[in-house]
Amino acid sequence: MLRLEKFSIGVGDRFAHQAQAQLRACTLAAERGITVIPVWNKSNREHSIIGSQPSSVRAAADAAVRELNWNGPYHVDADHINLDSVDRFLPSSDFFTIDVAHFIGHPADPATVDDFVDEHPELIGTIRIPGIARPMMMTPESVAAIASKYLVGIAEAGRIYRFIESKKGRANFITEVSMDETDLPQTPPELLVILAAIADEEIPIQTIAPKFTGRFNKGVDYVGDVRQFTCEFENDVAVIAHAVGHYGLPATLKLSVHSGSDKFSIYAPIASALVKFGAGVHLKTAGTTWLEELIGLAEAGGDGLAIAKQVYEKAYVDREALCAPYASVIDIDPARLPSPSEVRSWTSEQYIAALRHEPTGPDFNPHVRQLLHVGFKVAAKLGDRYLAMLKACQEPIARNVTYNLFERHIKPLFLAN
Ligand SMILES: [Zn+2]
Repeated sequence: MLRLEKFSIGVGDRFAHQAQAQLRACTLAAERGITVIPVWNKSNREHSIIGSQPSSVRAAADAAVRELNWNGPYHVDADHINLDSVDRFLPSSDFFTIDVAHFIGHPADPATVDDFVDEHPELIGTIRIPGIARPMMMTPESVAAIASKYLVGIAEAGRIYRFIESKKGRANFITEVSMDETDLPQTPPELLVILAAIADEEIPIQTIAPKFTGRFNKGVDYVGDVRQFTCEFENDVAVIAHAVGHYGLPATLKLSVHSGSDKFSIYAPIASALVKFGAGVHLKTAGTTWLEELIGLAEAGGDGLAIAKQVYEKAYVDREALCAPYASVIDIDPARLPSPSEVRSWTSEQYIAALRHEPTGPDFNPHVRQLLHVGFKVAAKLGDRYLAMLKACQEPIARNVTYNLFERHIKPLFLAN
């Protein structure tokens, strides 16, 4: 089986121009003795909005790896796929994130639930898991309730996994199951039942993306109770270790944190949980690199700054349509968005101060940042003009992309201890 390393970072690269700058952040970690491997992820939704093909992600990743002589592993993630969308990802991806969120809550057939409960007597009663202070108490009814909620989705994950396996061969890809895009977080007992069911489906899962408590808004810091998050995260890590031991799941199995970029206030708790349990983690970042592109363009001044302002202006005008698909993962107060005419008067420094993710900066504007985060469609519509500007302003862009991934993400998560 293709094994995923202990520490990995999902690097989204919407316009496929920053793979080298992203990989450089991993080489900086390597120079400090920590292996953090890059996984280039791009969802079907992003491809559809931009009009790109999955093969472009692979091509950009391969080129970056050659240029920088990266000797470590690296992967290309077909992010959030299902049976309808997986086909075009098959040739170029070696990592598949099977999304079952839509199936959660579709009640499973009662006979299937009964069979599951009968086959899993170990889930009933008092379950003591090292690292979790209070034992879990499970009854046949509570296990049945969880099974009913999740078995349909996990059966679907099994079908998708087996389809991919039939095309790629068992040894040639990494499997993630995601259920983050749903309303309620999964509790540790739910995670345990889910993992038992995934083992029943014989899915060699290496990463699982639950929904965590709190808000993971796009491009900005975590909003929620950090202590509760920490407790839940540690419990999930403990449940995973327990499930690996009991159900023969791959020893590499770890949590995957989606919308993980820019969640500065939870990186320290995650880092200490990793040390406490000797666990790994996969952190998916998507739009944070695209925002650094805008920062680099603004920093370049001249035509670069002009196009960065144009993106804001169009995003401002189209904000309702742009925000709609992301409604559950952004919190934008339109009253806090500066008008396009105001932004037109901004200097490079003003644009950067509003956008760059320095949450305590006096001019930082999380509303601007979130709007631009979902505004990549505007840049996509600019087409070659935008791409030409990326090339013309490559130096400041690359510097900001690398700095952001290394200093704000990799360092606090993987190099803190
Ligand atoms: Zn996700």
